[in-house]
Amino acid sequence: MSARTMARLHREPTEHTTWCARDHRCGAAEHRSADLIADSVGGRAIVTRVRAGNVEYVEIRARIPLHRNEDRARWQLATTLRLMRDLITTVIGHTPAITRRGDRPAIERRFA
Ligand SMILES: [Zn+2]
Repeated sequence: MSARTMARLHREPTEHTTWCARDHRCGAAEHRSADLIADSVGGRAIVTRVRAGNVEYVEIRARIPLHRNEDRARWQLATTLRLMRDLITTVIGHTPAITRRGDRPAIERRFA
């Protein structure tokens, strides 16, 4: 690798924010808050506020146990995907607060 390649990878450090962790979680040009954790019924969601350059966003990681039954697990995956789409739309400020039950009959189907 040449010195020219190294120069392109260099980023100017930015100041810590009022909300970032101010520790190893922050990089030269990325600042991250402490994790915010929501536990519920065996699952966990972790929300982190991030500023990368001039852009701020919410990073979401979640572990949601899936059912052993394949059909139920697929329903859980489909429901997770639908709710994540609604979450993004709602947080950004567009319409659906939460998709009403019955809007997607194939996804809303309950298993006996
Ligand atoms: Zn920071």
